[in-house]
Amino acid sequence: MPHLCASCLALGLTRADFENPPFVPEGKYHSIALRGTIGDLRIREAGCGLCRLLLHALSREARSQPELLSDRGADWEAEWMQNAFEYDPNADGAEAKYGSALYPKFKAATGSSNYGVQLVDDAATTVPLRGRAISDEVDMERVASWIRRCREEHGPRCVEGYLAAADHPIGVPGFFVIDVNRKCLTTLPGGMEYVALSYVWGKSSFVNTTKSNVDLFRIDGAFGRVRLPKTIRDAIEVAARLRYRFLWVDAVCIVQDDDSTKPLLIRSMDAVYGNAALTIIAASGTHAAAGFLRSRNRVNGDPESSFAVQEISLGFSLGVIPFLDGELMHCPHAQRGWTFQEGCRSPRCLVFLDGLAYFVCRTSVWREDLVAESSDFSPFEGANVLGKTSSEWP
Ligand SMILES: [Zn+2]
Ligand SMILES: [Zn+2]
Repeated sequence: MPHLCASCLALGLTRADFENPPFVPEGKYHSIALRGTIGDLRIREAGCGLCRLLLHALSREARSQPELLSDRGADWEAEWMQNAFEYDPNADGAEAKYGSALYPKFKAATGSSNYGVQLVDDAATTVPLRGRAISDEVDMERVASWIRRCREEHGPRCVEGYLAAADHPIGVPGFFVIDVNRKCLTTLPGGMEYVALSYVWGKSSFVNTTKSNVDLFRIDGAFGRVRLPKTIRDAIEVAARLRYRFLWVDAVCIVQDDDSTKPLLIRSMDAVYGNAALTIIAASGTHAAAGFLRSRNRVNGDPESSFAVQEISLGFSLGVIPFLDGELMHCPHAQRGWTFQEGCRSPRCLVFLDGLAYFVCRTSVWREDLVAESSDFSPFEGANVLGKTSSEWP
């Protein structure tokens, strides 16, 4: 028995509605399916999975206009739209290929909706632009396959960016990296790759490298003996699990009170991020102790998280899939213009946002919660739900 309220039940939703457009387009590519007020959703959400998802999507949408969410009389409407950018009813097969989603939006809001309620299948699904279930932890094997695929299929396109690559920072005096195997500071051996971390420091102080401890930090096991902040520990774990041996983190790899090397390194940020094999972006944290690896069992439907999935009936689950651009725009990392720029310098970024991993290179955007590993469409142009590639970041 589906857990739906009478209004949602009356839609007669089936999987097929999300696989093929169940609508005759009004105008070019959309059709209103449901409408109501915030008050309606608040009454029905306890007994209806779809109302819960619609409310979740509208809550995320209302982050820039919170007064809409607190007004029980605020009107919303949900329309069917294609997951691909353009819906052309005359195009051959395109509509069945990419599926459709229900996009709820406040009638008083400007702009279009950034949150679609769409079909979510198990993690093994390969249907393009199909939502997929996530497990309790980030699937590092999947992340590793994205990096491998970028290297093998995108090649130079993703390394020689639109920004002229700056010289490798290995020649800059004081350029240290963390050896994640030996858990200590070291100089980067020639020809070796490294990962860089981009994060928000925040206001509280934490362990960093100074002239007084740099020699201690160069001894094997040093970072097992001091407690680095969680964001940096998480980055060390991710680098190790992706089999990168070296990691660059500003607080640890720049000797903070060394006036002879610090200014040179600060001036070389383009080179440090531009030459990293991968930049890990901790997008959600407002401080270094926030960390970005977390259990995801508890985030389902949490208003602080973009992630929400509901089983409507056996084998038929729906979830809120956000447009990546909309999520990135609101994250603490993007609020800090300079940290966001670090991402733009990087050929490949692994963005951790609300506990989910997104891979953004100059060619593709791949994400855990949506199947996008296809060469049939490109981010933004073909599928705006994916957002922009890093070559189009501000
Ligand atoms: Zn409902
Ligand atoms: Zn790539």
